[in-house]
Amino acid sequence: MAFEGLAERLQGTMKKITGKGKVSEQDVKEMTREVRLALLEADVNFKVVKDLIKRIKERAVGQEVMESLTPGQQVIKVVKEELSELMGGEQSKIAVADRPPTVIMMAGLQGAGKTTTSGKLANHLRKKHKRQPLLVAADVYRPAAVDQLETVGQQLEMPVFSKGTDANPVDIAKEAVEQAKAEHHDYVIIDTAGRLHVDENLMGELEEIKTAVNPDEIFLVVDAMTGQDAVNVAESFNEQLGLSGVVLTKLDGDTRGGAALSIRAVTGTPIKFAGMGEKLDQLEPFRPEGMASRILG
Ligand code: GDP
Repeated sequence: MAFEGLAERLQGTMKKITGKGKVSEQDVKEMTREVRLALLEADVNFKVVKDLIKRIKERAVGQEVMESLTPGQQVIKVVKEELSELMGGEQSKIAVADRPPTVIMMAGLQGAGKTTTSGKLANHLRKKHKRQPLLVAADVYRPAAVDQLETVGQQLEMPVFSKGTDANPVDIAKEAVEQAKAEHHDYVIIDTAGRLHVDENLMGELEEIKTAVNPDEIFLVVDAMTGQDAVNVAESFNEQLGLSGVVLTKLDGDTRGGAALSIRAVTGTPIKFAGMGEKLDQLEPFRPEGMASRILG
C-alpha cells in the first residue's frame, strides 16, 4: 500500500508529541523539522512542503487550548487538517449535466491506466450512482487499446462505442455522444489516445475532441508510481486542456505518495478518484480527510 514509509515516519514523530501536556515552541520546531524531512523523502514537491510547514508552525504555536485534547493531540490535529487541506479538503463530486448525457473525457499518458480506469469509472457510476454509461473507444493509435476497452465492456456487460482504429477520434467522440442521446445513456466516458510523452499532436487532438463534445469533466489519469513526473504531467495537461479532476492510479503499489500530496497544491486540480488495483471494482473516490488519517494514524 502507498504511503507506508511516510505513514510510519510521521506516526513515529506524532507519537513523541501526543502525550505532551505542554508543547513548547522548541517541540513544534522539532516536530515540523521531522515532518518536513519525511515529506521530502516521500517525494512531495519542495515548495508544497515549505508552504505546508509554514502553516503548521503558525497554527501549532499559539493555538487556542481545547479542553478535550492534550496540547500534543491538538498539534497532531493541526497537522492532520493541514495535510487534508493540502489534498483538497472536501471530497469533490462528479459532475451531472443539466441535460444528459454527462460527458467525461479521459486523458493521460500511455500506461497510466486510462483504459482500465475508464472501465472502472463506468462500473462505479453504474454501481454507486445507478447510471447507464456508454464507453467510447477513441484511443485509436495504441495497438489493441480498442480491443482492450471492448474486453472491459464485455467483462462489465456494458456497451462500448467503437469504430475500429481507422476512424478519426474527433468523429468517434461526436458520434458516440449522439448515440448516447438516442439510446438514453446518462454518461459518456471517452477513452482518448495516450502517448509516451506530452506532445503537441496529443494535445492538439485532445483540444479538438474537447471543442467537439464540450465535456462536463476532463479527467487526467496519472500513475502515482511516477512521483514528481505525475505532478509535471498534470501541470502540462492542466495548462493546455484545463482539467476538472485527476485520477491517481496504482496507489495500491509501493509508491512514496508524493504525487498524491502535491498534485492538488501544484495544479489546483482535485484528485477525484484513486485506483487501488487492476480489477474493475478497485476504484475509490479520493477522500483527502481519510487519506490524511491513514497517513497520520
Ligand atoms: P493506458 O495505456 O493508460 O490505457 O493503461 P492501461 O489501462 O492499459 O493500464 C496499464 C497497466 O496498469 C495495466 O496492466 C493495468 O492493469 C494497470 N493498472 C491500471 N490501474 C491500476 C491500479 O490502480 N493499480 C494497479 N496495480 N495496476 C493498475
